[in-house]
Amino acid sequence: MGTIEDYTGGFILESIRKALHLFDSTEGALTADEKGLRLHKNISEFEPLILSFNQAAEYIRNARSIAIGERVCRVLHPESVFTESVFLNELAVEMAANGHARMATIEEAEECLQKSAGHPLIISKVSGEYLEICPSFPLDCVYWKAEKRGLHCLQR
Ligand code: SF4
Repeated sequence: MGTIEDYTGGFILESIRKALHLFDSTEGALTADEKGLRLHKNISEFEPLILSFNQAAEYIRNARSIAIGERVCRVLHPESVFTESVFLNELAVEMAANGHARMATIEEAEECLQKSAGHPLIISKVSGEYLEICPSFPLDCVYWKAEKRGLHCLQR
């Protein structure tokens, strides 16, 4: 499972980079591929859920701390559309402390997600709790790419 330290220390980015490399260097379904199955296990541990805006707003309203920062994988695709994720609780505090995000109010976080309308919202578990809400960019997103290759991971 991904941990808060993975996010602040850059390990999560390395994992995303490796996953994207697997997708780019192979074709077709990955359901019988050893590396594909390992990747499926790893990403499933984030228990990603697709959220409506109202569901995302509820997570935000119930959070102890909130921060906003560029979606984690965008550094690998700097030419792609700019969207920002909302981080919650301890992940918010640590991402802000490490300069990857800025602390935000409930209203700012909701406005941030509203600005990215059209990007499916996905919440991921980090250190065992749902802490990252990303307006995902399906063309570059590990979860959406995994789904396309038969590695189903997104719950609705
Ligand atoms: S677009 Fe997908 S891979 Fe990128 S940060 Fe968002 S959820 Fe993660």
